[in-house]
Amino acid sequence: MRGRIGLVLTLALLLVAGWWWQERPLRPSVTTRLLMGTLVEISTWGMPEALSMRAVALAFDEMTRVEERMSRMRPESELARINRGQRGQWQPISAELALVVDRGLAMGRLASGAFDIGLGSLSDLWGFSLEPPPTRPPPADRIAGWLAQRARQNDAGIERSGESEKKIRLDNAGVGLDLGGIAKGYAVERAVEMLRREGVQDALINAGGDMRILGSKGGKPWHVGLRDPRDPQGVAAILDLAGEVALSTSGDYERFFMADGIRHHHILDPKTGQSARAGLISVSVQAPDSMTADGLSTALFVLGEQAGLAMLRHFPGCEALLIREDGSHFQTTGFIGRWVKGP
Ligand code: AMP
Ligand code: MG
Repeated sequence: MRGRIGLVLTLALLLVAGWWWQERPLRPSVTTRLLMGTLVEISTWGMPEALSMRAVALAFDEMTRVEERMSRMRPESELARINRGQRGQWQPISAELALVVDRGLAMGRLASGAFDIGLGSLSDLWGFSLEPPPTRPPPADRIAGWLAQRARQNDAGIERSGESEKKIRLDNAGVGLDLGGIAKGYAVERAVEMLRREGVQDALINAGGDMRILGSKGGKPWHVGLRDPRDPQGVAAILDLAGEVALSTSGDYERFFMADGIRHHHILDPKTGQSARAGLISVSVQAPDSMTADGLSTALFVLGEQAGLAMLRHFPGCEALLIREDGSHFQTTGFIGRWVKGP
């Protein structure tokens, strides 16, 4: 009898072990979706397939929801409605959109205007978000016209009185909100929140230039590569990331065209109305959350090395790797990354 019980117990144990082995694959489960104008990839580790798929689907749904609210290019989005609204009039704004706008405004103040979420009309002139993408710069007089309007984020005011009912006012005909430099980071952060809520402890979200780590990959760090800005197949640096960390990269190779030997790209300098040319071709920022990393990488790109590193000092726990026009690089001491591209 004893022997029988032993045998039954052993068989039951083997069954459970077998189930566990099958349900917890030794490779990440990876799902990809086209969102926010880029390929978004979510990898989870060590979770039963069905649970992981459910969590990832909810995370993608959440990112879609954020995009539908904050995209300037979707006529039905809340942001587009505000941009179309009457100038000088208070308009209702959701607490969620107000939060992202507020973070953008704060980033702009710290960047002394190099980062400016009020440059939507300038983005419209360049048209980098359009399909097909542009092949010529806008006429010089249109850019001069935009510069003369002096439309800046200072022309956007948020009423902070009530917590639940917020209002926004745009005061300049030329001002339009563009959250392209920061909203992807917010969306990624929301996706992380959904994964966490569904019990996911270990994940990697890669949304184009924005990466976010949660936990580890079976006790080991997630191994990620930073693209060589001048070689789509090449890797410039390798990072082993674990825990709560975000990494955002802004580069002049993401959306660009060449005209008369000049590279025109989607990161704009509000001072000149042209693509930012401050000596950097790629900026990666490591931060505790994706929205900070996203905003900072764009801001530092426009500011350039010296002013950019000065701004970074306002953000404890944030580190950066900068790649200069001549291909050389600089990384702050706390940046977790190994340069592999050569000198
Ligand atoms: P990212 O790819 O995160 O560096 O952000 C680039 C996007 O941010 C562009 O596609 C624009 O939507 C927006 N953008 C471009 N220049 C600026 C700027 N100087 N300040 C704030 N947002 C910008
Ligand atoms: Mg950004």
